[in-house]
Amino acid sequence: MTPQNTSVLIIYTGGTIGMIQNPETGALETFNFEHLHTHVPELQKTNCTIDTIQFDPPIDSSDMEPEAWRKIVHIISDNYDMYNGFVILHGTDTMAYTASALSFMLENLAKPVILTGSQLPICMLRTDGKENLMTSIEIATAQNPDGTPVVPEVCILFENHLMRGNRTTKLNAENFNAFRSFNYPVLADAGIHIKYNYGVIHKAMPTLPLEPHYLLDTRIAVLKLFPGIHENVVAATLSIEGLRAVVLETYGSGNAPRRKWLLRLLEGASKRGIVIVNVSQCCAGTVEMERYETGYHLLQSGIVSGYDSTTESAVTKLMFLLGHGYEPEEIREKMRHPLAGEITLP
Ligand code: ASP
Repeated sequence: MTPQNTSVLIIYTGGTIGMIQNPETGALETFNFEHLHTHVPELQKTNCTIDTIQFDPPIDSSDMEPEAWRKIVHIISDNYDMYNGFVILHGTDTMAYTASALSFMLENLAKPVILTGSQLPICMLRTDGKENLMTSIEIATAQNPDGTPVVPEVCILFENHLMRGNRTTKLNAENFNAFRSFNYPVLADAGIHIKYNYGVIHKAMPTLPLEPHYLLDTRIAVLKLFPGIHENVVAATLSIEGLRAVVLETYGSGNAPRRKWLLRLLEGASKRGIVIVNVSQCCAGTVEMERYETGYHLLQSGIVSGYDSTTESAVTKLMFLLGHGYEPEEIREKMRHPLAGEITLP
């Protein structure tokens, strides 16, 4: 149950959740969120004040860009003192990237920022949107006995799991249970009751003021290895003009073929100041380059471990660090430490 005298700001960015069917054409269209109460009458049963802001035009999350992340950060920062929490309605396709980016851009966050969406539009009989929305509002306004927010971090709520945003990946394009956090426990299970896993939820420092960040540098490539990958492909990627960082998706615990040309190319790029971060193609587990000879060579080529990071988190963390003008060696060092609970150190 939502506590009395609480307030939440819903930011609708786009995506399936905010669509209704045009009765004449049958086509799915976004609805005006000022009329949210008409489409979700259940909202009247909550005790809290609900305000809404809508992106105009709403964007399918496949069109999400860092500019839209900046816009969300602006909205949260401008309204930070007015609300107990924030719910961001977002398309599912790139929700994990947005959640990861926000976790780095909202430094000292001490209030809940809950991203959610749905697989079926909110107007449909079997929609998962209403439940996701109502549960997100409840979590965004949940308070500890001392009045502090229960979940002061950027999260994704989907189906019955509340997950740390920068640990989450979209896994399923059809099921209601579309997201997973493989390398970090869920923050809460939403069933009949919402059961919070208090021990793994971030502890905020409410005395520190929110520090919103807007600088991002997107000169990054993601290079996924596969057996038989051609030297030209790797060489072409690493010689992209202006390239500043690469997320290298390797096998298992961070392993790559021991081809001389590969190590030469990677080492050369590292020496030129390109930051190369090793993340595993496996969903679960961590990179341990020291474990096999095939990983050890990568370590010697100047490649930095992404530990158990998702690709979404590694990409957005690099954007954030590059955007803030750090030198390559400083970025490598910062990639080895969690900024917002995005990696587990061994
Ligand atoms: N293509 C949509 C989007 O990500 C799908 C969804 O909303 O789930 O915006």
